[in-house]
Amino acid sequence: MNKRKFLQTLLATGGVVLVAKRYIPSGGQSPVPDPAPETLAAPASADLMPDASQGPTLAASNAKEEFELMMLQESELRPGFKHSERSQGGEVVIQQLPNETVDQYLEKIRNFDNSFASDIYLREENSKLLLPTLARLDRIQNFVGHANFNLISFEEILYFARNYPEIGKFEKAEVDFMNEIFQADATTYGFFGEKITPDFNHRVLQKDVVKIDGTGHYLMRGESLAHYQQIHKDVGNELTLTSGIRNNVKQMHLFLAKTFQSEGNLSRASRSLAPPGHSFHGVGDFDVGKVGMGEQNFTADFATTKEYRRLINLGYVDIRYTDTNKFGVRYEPWHIKIENDSIAHCSHGGSSPCTA
Ligand SMILES: [Zn+2]
Repeated sequence: MNKRKFLQTLLATGGVVLVAKRYIPSGGQSPVPDPAPETLAAPASADLMPDASQGPTLAASNAKEEFELMMLQESELRPGFKHSERSQGGEVVIQQLPNETVDQYLEKIRNFDNSFASDIYLREENSKLLLPTLARLDRIQNFVGHANFNLISFEEILYFARNYPEIGKFEKAEVDFMNEIFQADATTYGFFGEKITPDFNHRVLQKDVVKIDGTGHYLMRGESLAHYQQIHKDVGNELTLTSGIRNNVKQMHLFLAKTFQSEGNLSRASRSLAPPGHSFHGVGDFDVGKVGMGEQNFTADFATTKEYRRLINLGYVDIRYTDTNKFGVRYEPWHIKIENDSIAHCSHGGSSPCTA
């Protein structure tokens, strides 16, 4: 049984949220895979287990080369690398900056991709884990597809890594590293947004999302989808979705990649991209851009387009991160704020886990 059929079988049972797009040649003896996480439906028989390939596997290669390849693919396929998402929980930030004047703070968010003396860096042992972890996450992204990678949960990436030799099982140190990044207090970096999806294994269910044709991205059903459809109708076909739902694994991948680009500078990375768990993309916010503008959509240049002016003139669209926001983040004219019950709950620091 090939993997496509395996996944179709799982889908038919209603228990899997992912469909891997890459065909794995069948044949040969299948190794016994590790147990599926409970979120993946247990196969009905051994015959339904993933057919881990006996065919050609990716040659072991230099992690840095793999990562550079990934960066190229990312910029070609989904120009959403330079993101940031911050919550707006209140006017608290300046009080959290006892050693910093407002002018110094604004200088940082306006020169977000520079390094500053007070910036926090990765510890040396974690620096060594950065590339191998990124390379493994990249292999998973290629394996399940870029669109599905936006949805995948932490347990699911461990599952795929364990069962497919071309990904390779995560080392314990890599898992510990990702957990440390996820659990870190982001205010130490200079990021003041709240935790939005605090469970690393936060699930995004297929039934709750809709794939938007031609974009490779998903939106949450309900307010998020309706808002996008209205904006698209009112602004026109030149406006498109450039990033929708992103679960914690996707945000981890983006944040670690930005940390790599920033030479281990976590503060600099967090001025451009919310640390994993802190992104409103996890619960409904989305990004828009002008068709054909590519990565430039994720710069202040987007605010000079007529599509942006139309967007603002509609009167019902809110941009979450303004040029004078108090959350340690750069100006993001492309990031559309969604208000709904789950987001309002999350942004006000409710005691129960945020769900959407
Ligand atoms: Zn965004």
